[in-house]
Amino acid sequence: MTKALFLVDSYLKESPATVVSVKDEKYIILDQTLFYPKGGGQPHDTGKIIKGREIYNVVYVGKFLGEISHEVDNSGLKAGDKVYCMLNWKRRYKLMRSHTAAHVLAFLLHKGTGALITGNQLEEDHVRFDFSLKKFDKSLLEAYLVKANKLYKANIPVKWYELPREEAMKIPGIVKMASAFPPNLPTLRIVEIVGIDRQADGGTHVRNLREIEEVKLVKTVNKGKNNRRIYFKLN
Ligand SMILES: [Zn+2]
Repeated sequence: MTKALFLVDSYLKESPATVVSVKDEKYIILDQTLFYPKGGGQPHDTGKIIKGREIYNVVYVGKFLGEISHEVDNSGLKAGDKVYCMLNWKRRYKLMRSHTAAHVLAFLLHKGTGALITGNQLEEDHVRFDFSLKKFDKSLLEAYLVKANKLYKANIPVKWYELPREEAMKIPGIVKMASAFPPNLPTLRIVEIVGIDRQADGGTHVRNLREIEEVKLVKTVNKGKNNRRIYFKLN
């Protein structure tokens, strides 16, 4: 099983690795990886795998049969190769900031209205967020963004750690996604915005809310009571 370095240190930008296997010349499995695989509403990372003078661009990262698979743009890598990995940090850091921003907004909406998140999708340049809410009111959503923006400038630490599933499930609001977590995981990874929110989550996050700085509303769309949709982006 590939060691997922991003789960421990989301700020790690470079790392050595060994190629474990190669499928169809371009799907690479490593012994440890910096690259986040698409999932949980967060897009995959991009970057480079370097072997000597050869550079392989990582164009897609996904999880297949429990393994993190890196699709590269060229053939040539072989099992046993010692490589060096470099993350496209600019893209990842935006995703970390907007992912943590989304948690804050979910917390505020959930606390204020009882809304559950029915879907969310981060993109490099914006976040789409769907939630259930009885009454659709654009000015209410704008007011929540104002509240969120105050927190995005505050010195509030964020940390992540694992908890046994039973213990984690006792935390109120730990799963704000309307669709529940897979029931077979013995431990859950918790992302805690200290003093504010704890959420079961496998994504990458910033260490302090003030790294987010500010977001702005792009638009709101009403797709029915279970899908009030909001788009926002980092400023
Ligand atoms: Zn999340």
